[in-house]
Amino acid sequence: MKLPFDIDLKGKVAVVTGGGGVLCGMFAKALASCGAKVAILDLRKEAADAVADEIKADGGTAIGVCANVLSRESLEEAKKQVNNAFGTCDILLNGAGGNNPRGTTTKEYYEIGDEDKEDLVSFFDLDPDGVSFVFNLNFLGTLLPTQVFAKDLIGKKDAVILNVSSMNAFCPLTKIPAYSGAKAAVSNFTQWLAVHFSKVGIRVNAIAPGFFVTDQNRALLKNPDGSLTPRSEKILSQTPMGRFGEAEELIGTLLFLVSDEAASFVNGVVIPVDGGFAAYSGV
Ligand code: NAD
Repeated sequence: MKLPFDIDLKGKVAVVTGGGGVLCGMFAKALASCGAKVAILDLRKEAADAVADEIKADGGTAIGVCANVLSRESLEEAKKQVNNAFGTCDILLNGAGGNNPRGTTTKEYYEIGDEDKEDLVSFFDLDPDGVSFVFNLNFLGTLLPTQVFAKDLIGKKDAVILNVSSMNAFCPLTKIPAYSGAKAAVSNFTQWLAVHFSKVGIRVNAIAPGFFVTDQNRALLKNPDGSLTPRSEKILSQTPMGRFGEAEELIGTLLFLVSDEAASFVNGVVIPVDGGFAAYSGV
């Protein structure tokens, strides 16, 4: 894999939750390219294994581990597997997360009577279970792996926790209140953890990706003929750089935050990688 710059992670063990997915699979490969032994945790074991296989084919060291970030028991079991295979963890990347239609309204703006229309989900129709699912996946799904794996990190030199937030954390996007609230909680929790662990050698930061066309959101952002959807047009009109990000453009920030040489005094920050989206008022 081509990296923007090299950092030395030889001898380090990295745990990447959601590592079977698009962005975190790429993060796992970048960490492995720098010499880390990488444990890829995902609910979808076959996806985790596929990323581990790619890393191994490239000369790196990795294992795929089946784990549910919403189950402490499953995470404890995963930790045993990681510790047996590689030893204790030095880097925890909390990447598992995402939105779900059950936490999403159909329309951007409420209009009187929307709750009576059968073909749409109004704010009043949102299912509390759907909202909880999205909130828990992103927030508890960051907190529980931290409870389990941070025990390995305590007292080590150069230990790092990296969370994955989102643009929604700075200002909520329309239609997705559960995901927006959950990612705001992830950013807030990043600051809380950074303070809480500041005396025991763990730095805690987050990356907030802007808009990247990946397999999971391609249908939302692009029409089948490759043209932009109306939501995409809006996103790009609010992105000063006028384009989507390429997933590889997140790697520089990942490596910077993970590197103790580069970021030893950087703690509790959430770095947007967004082409200026979060900085733009729209005027
Ligand atoms: P993705 O769907 O490709 O990856 C998410 C991975 O998490 C999947 O492999 C999935 O199997 C796994 N997962 C889901 N529930 C899990 C659970 N309970 N336990 C363990 N693993 C579970 O999505 P992605 O786009 O690569 O997103 C990765 C992270 O980046 C997420 O936190 C997402 O919210 C965040 N993010 C993505 C974007 C984007 O534009 N794609 C923007 C901002 C933030």
